Amino acid sequence: MNQKEMDKPANTLNNSEPMPVLFIGHGSPMNAIEDNEFSMAWPQVAKILPKPKAILCISAHWETLGTWVTAMETPRTIHDFGGFPQALFEVQYSAPGSPWLAQEVKNIMKKIKVGLDQDYGCWSVLRQMFPAANIPVLQLSLDYTKPASDHYALAKELAPLREMGVLILGSGNMVHNLSRLVVKGNGLRDLNKSFGLDWAIEANALFKRLINENRHSELANYPSLGNAVQLAVPTPEHYLPLLYVLALKQENETVSYFNDQIVGGSLAMTSLIIDDDLKNAQYAKQMPLGSN
Ligand code: ZN
Repeated sequence: MNQKEMDKPANTLNNSEPMPVLFIGHGSPMNAIEDNEFSMAWPQVAKILPKPKAILCISAHWETLGTWVTAMETPRTIHDFGGFPQALFEVQYSAPGSPWLAQEVKNIMKKIKVGLDQDYGCWSVLRQMFPAANIPVLQLSLDYTKPASDHYALAKELAPLREMGVLILGSGNMVHNLSRLVVKGNGLRDLNKSFGLDWAIEANALFKRLINENRHSELANYPSLGNAVQLAVPTPEHYLPLLYVLALKQENETVSYFNDQIVGGSLAMTSLIIDDDLKNAQYAKQMPLGSN
């Protein structure tokens, strides 16, 4: 078997059920190395999902001109933040890349460009979910020149990857306003205590209601959803990964939530899995900090 064949999944799952789709509220980079109720939920979720052949991650932290995909065999770990303990800068998440998946994505999205490494929006979550780092990871960037509705439309093109056993993971925060962050007591150490400002609670609840009612066009047109949402999404990058995930929801599928909490007043850790109804009913029983 040559390298190309080894890289390709043994079973492309064309006739099987599609992989679930996942959105994770990633919050502070410290969640990569801290054990708290949110970061500890991530490996629990990984355990109840089918094992992916590869992971395609769409993170808030990779914004580009045009849409890019990583295609190297061994992407580097990028520490794209400042002011955190040295231990965090020393983290390496050495999951292999996947030239096979990069080629599949290029076949689907003709205008895609190829480059770069893994930002923390991906590795902070994946390090906790899949610590063995043996599942190939690819990242797809967010084109900052495109309106939200274009991102939603683009994401729909990724649907065939679910049939190939690829876990599509959006990593952001559906409510994310760092200028309104309320840091008490022990500073960043307290950032994972559950506390939400009124508008953040309102926006989080509204997003979940619109998600549950499949009102995706309103979610894609989020600036018209009122003051609470304008405060919750002052810039689009942490919200857009959610639209990628929602765009991949099929009619027969439902949503279950976990880590449904607001921290620091203005940051929602709210995360969700899209899968068929039956599986979601099973997930719901095992899901930490779940809700409807
Ligand atoms: Zn972030």
